[in-house]
Amino acid sequence: MSDHADNADIKIFRTIADGLAAARRAPELQPDCRCHFCDEMVVVNLLFCDVNCRDDFERQNAALRRAGR
Ligand SMILES: [Zn+2]
Repeated sequence: MSDHADNADIKIFRTIADGLAAARRAPELQPDCRCHFCDEMVVVNLLFCDVNCRDDFERQNAALRRAGR
């Protein structure tokens, strides 16, 4: 039955669309002259003072996302 396949396609498409919408709702990080992880002053247009802070921030964010927040 092709109807079943069509319904599955629609369901998958909706799931992807919901995921994209959620990703777009997530606030973008804006450079504000401070490291987003440790709050050190940084050069304008940089989000983090070094790669360690960036990595720690992303690891922390991923952990929060896994925890469902
Ligand atoms: Zn930092």
